[in-house]
Amino acid sequence: MADTPTTAKRILIVGGGTAGWMTAAMLVHSWAKHGFEVTLLESDSIGIIGVGEGSTPKMRRFFDRIGVSEAEWMPHCNATYKCGIRFPDWSTKPGYQSYYHPFFSQSDDGPIRAFYQNASLRSRNLDVHAHPDTFFISQYLAGQRRAPQPDERSGYVADYAYHFDAALIGDFLKRWSTARGVRHLVGTVNQVRVHENGDIAGVDTPEHGQVDADFFVDCTGFASLLIGKTLNVPFQPYKQWLFNDSAVAMPTPLDADGTLPSETLSRALKFGWVWKIPLTNRYGNGYVYSSEYVDKDAAERELRETLGLLDSPVEARHLRMRVGRVEKSWVRNCLAVGLAQGFIEPLEATALMIVQDTVDMFMQRYEQGGFSERYRADVNEKINLIFDGVKNYVFTHYKLNSRSDTEYWVNAREATPLTPELERILAVWDRGGDLLSELRSQAGRQVYSPTSWYCILAGMGRFPTRPGKPPRDVQVFLPAEMRKFCEGMLQHFPDHRQALERLKQAEAA
Ligand SMILES: Cc1cc2nc3c(=O)[nH]c(=O)nc-3n(C[C@H](O)[C@H](O)[C@H](O)COP(=O)(O)OP(=O)(O)OC[C@H]3O[C@@H](n4cnc5c(N)ncnc54)[C@H](O)[C@@H]3O)c2cc1C
Repeated sequence: MADTPTTAKRILIVGGGTAGWMTAAMLVHSWAKHGFEVTLLESDSIGIIGVGEGSTPKMRRFFDRIGVSEAEWMPHCNATYKCGIRFPDWSTKPGYQSYYHPFFSQSDDGPIRAFYQNASLRSRNLDVHAHPDTFFISQYLAGQRRAPQPDERSGYVADYAYHFDAALIGDFLKRWSTARGVRHLVGTVNQVRVHENGDIAGVDTPEHGQVDADFFVDCTGFASLLIGKTLNVPFQPYKQWLFNDSAVAMPTPLDADGTLPSETLSRALKFGWVWKIPLTNRYGNGYVYSSEYVDKDAAERELRETLGLLDSPVEARHLRMRVGRVEKSWVRNCLAVGLAQGFIEPLEATALMIVQDTVDMFMQRYEQGGFSERYRADVNEKINLIFDGVKNYVFTHYKLNSRSDTEYWVNAREATPLTPELERILAVWDRGGDLLSELRSQAGRQVYSPTSWYCILAGMGRFPTRPGKPPRDVQVFLPAEMRKFCEGMLQHFPDHRQALERLKQAEAA
């Protein structure tokens, strides 16, 4: 690590939500040995947002990095495995009313090539089966409620993510981080002090008086206390593409037969979509909607109706969302992480992935050059590309929807501007061109892999109508064979519930 004169040894994280505690864990794990002191200050009167139960596969890298095994953390957080996300009712096209966004690994290379081949032929208006669900083992695993933990005989390596309780994961990381030296203060910041040069000097709290530091991490959630309210970094809303600004959430009991899904369900409703996330003790459900199209009470009623809870006393939690990002996440001696830096609605459960990326990139660059403006600019540019890349992909779900039951869905498709990246992708796809080359040419601006792009375009049925017969000499993969291959692999994967029980026993041993 470069030992520059500007090295900041005292780091204050303000905010103890998942973002704050993930940041604390990463910092203390790698930097405590270099003499850094990490303090986390959180307000018990304000509390945390308390949602955020789905992840991407990157979360595995987080726990690997800090050296915590699944048996150590998952049972404490009521965590389950996530093979992918299923999207029913976004498309009305016959045969495409639902599709599944899988997690995949190098072991899926063969099926992926087969899927690309068939999807490319179908996009050239040839009558070939190209629904992504047929090609990915992950989809079959989720369909049978199995865990993505193959036995050794399979020779298969699965990629996957997790679901977990948002409050319990924060508690787990709090215990883990404080045991390794993170100082924990409970207090509410009522003033932020700034040096003459504009850097942040410290924060004031009634409970602890002045708390000073050399470097600050803003994890204050949507309050954005340091980066937004103190340093006045402008916020760029994503409203023209993503107009959901609210959510209502409530739990439901697990299925009576004792089985446990290993996927997130993201079903489109009249004015948005509802997530259904399985934990080991309950389902988390939440309707993400636009308040311009439906009011809070009607949204709650639609969610209750969907969940069969119309007459249930179970309480609903209503939330507002600020969707967009700050222009720069690292400004002066302050890095914003989590909801304080920005948020893209949770359709692909990407928020904690961006937390990880932000802290990772900051640490890498800081280790190389301290506070050099060049590195700060580089980190900011990369974070913005990630936000904008995720926004583009999430927006594509709305742009490709074919529902016409409400003005909401019509406007989501027709009254939203194409981003330049999506415009090029759709142009190439719609003319049956070489999508892979197009995506490769956009690699620097893309967060999602070509496989994810093929899945969404094919899965939502964006194909020409009335396809013709393919010529004899083109290679076509038959769905029955793909199904047979994937179904043949299922014997190597355990039942999801049983796999989690085994994890619990391993932890207890
Ligand atoms: C509806 C919804 C669904 C979501 N689903 C997902 C998902 O599936 N997957 C995913 O990855 N993410 C999801 N997210 C995002 C996820 O919830 C957050 O990214 C994550 O919880 C981190 O939040 P945070 O720590 O940034 O903020 P918060 O949890 O809001 O924490 C803010 C912290 O700052 C503290 N604070 C605020 N002001 C002060 C002050 N003045 N003084 C002291 N402390 C202060 C608070 O007390 C709290 O500790 C979802 C978000 C929403 C709104």
